[in-house]
Amino acid sequence: MSISFEILEEDIFGRTGRLKVGEKVLKTPALLPVVNPHLPLITPPEMKSLGADALITNAYIFYRSKEFCEPALARGLHDVLGFDGIIMTDSGSFQLSVYGDVEVSNSDTLLFQRSIGSDIIVPLDIPTHPDTPRDQTEKELVITMERLREAGEILGPDAPLAAPIQGGSFPDLREQAGRMAGEMGCTFTPIGAVVPLMESYRYEELVHVVMAAKKGLPSSACVHLFGAGHPVMFALAVAMGCDLFDSAAYALYAKEGRYLTTHGSKKLAELSELPCSCEVCRRHSADEMRKSPEKIRLLARHNLIVTLTEISRIRQAISDGVLWELVDERCRSHPQLLRGYRALLTYAEDLGKRDRVSKRRFFYRGDESCRRTEVLRYQMMIPRFSVGPKVLVTFDRLPSGGVPEYDTVLLFKPPFGPYPVELKETFPIGQCELPEWDDHMVITGCRGIRALIAGNPGVSVTVRCGPEWAAIVGRELPEVRLERN
Ligand SMILES: [Zn+2]
Repeated sequence: MSISFEILEEDIFGRTGRLKVGEKVLKTPALLPVVNPHLPLITPPEMKSLGADALITNAYIFYRSKEFCEPALARGLHDVLGFDGIIMTDSGSFQLSVYGDVEVSNSDTLLFQRSIGSDIIVPLDIPTHPDTPRDQTEKELVITMERLREAGEILGPDAPLAAPIQGGSFPDLREQAGRMAGEMGCTFTPIGAVVPLMESYRYEELVHVVMAAKKGLPSSACVHLFGAGHPVMFALAVAMGCDLFDSAAYALYAKEGRYLTTHGSKKLAELSELPCSCEVCRRHSADEMRKSPEKIRLLARHNLIVTLTEISRIRQAISDGVLWELVDERCRSHPQLLRGYRALLTYAEDLGKRDRVSKRRFFYRGDESCRRTEVLRYQMMIPRFSVGPKVLVTFDRLPSGGVPEYDTVLLFKPPFGPYPVELKETFPIGQCELPEWDDHMVITGCRGIRALIAGNPGVSVTVRCGPEWAAIVGRELPEVRLERN
């Protein structure tokens, strides 16, 4: 295939990477703004100047348009739109999901997309609504996979083809679809038909659907979350391993008078301030924006800048190894997002397999932090500590004169658990910032002591702690000797 994807840095399942389409290169994670040629609130050259290196448009609109079809065929899509970056085209599947029917066949749209010079071509897949019953979902998935196979035959093995992953809300079907796309050698895989989940804030289901698709897909595939355009959920999606987003939201929200922020959207009518540092918001007051004849365009420009900025912030977070902190922050913007975050934490064991070993920091941000990959990974390493027959785990500082009656003395840092003094400066112990200890943190740390005992059967473990923690330690670790200080 003429699409290749290289992973550069990883954090959780998120990654920074380089998507290469022919000779064009895109840094990921990336956002592809949606362009509607009939009413461009922001023109493609303007998008480019704001930092968008790729965009997506709908081939079906060009195909059906008296105004745009001929020029696109004659001059090519890039010339018509005035954009020399990567242009991905959707096939008409979106119209199929909204209107139930399209006047184009799979081979028609594939050949048309190729004729207008699309950089990434999408077959006419069936976007199965997440509330569709299983038998119909299965039938539609068969058609989608058949059309993908047909696309390979029509366009040839080197075509820049996207392989949409369908399967409705059934995790096993999503996984199967991902596996089949991987077996067919597809390197660019949009996860489709998730917009209804996002529109109704069903983030918990979204997490299960995406994680299932990821389980089937090779980790080297570039994953596009089709139709995801609200910046509030990008960090969560990237943490699951989504690399690309497309946003019509910047324009749709603008038309409804809504102002995007990274923690939700607000009605411009209700704002007395514009809490943003973009050029639009610095040059206008909320009142001026409301009264401007250019209101929708100004809003769209602000919305797109906020969206692109969040993508940059996420790339930096991955580079710094602080993506969990960003996910935690964003997901507290809405209770349903928090549910999504908690659902993602149930995959911590899988996520830990790709998560990086060392990070810049671990900020404790409440109960959810106890379930993070770093805690799980650390506790999986604890059984390998080599200890003598008599072990002391102390919640306090190491006594200056040592503790001669014990063979091994370990310190304790919740939520991780016991650690030898040699690990004091290394990640995560050395980079973990805690507020005052709380019960949840200490209970999780006790799980670490339990891992130590499980890995060293026969050793005698004593825990030395203050009276405030004695009850928890006694309850969590009935097998240890408790020494109060
Ligand atoms: Zn702004």
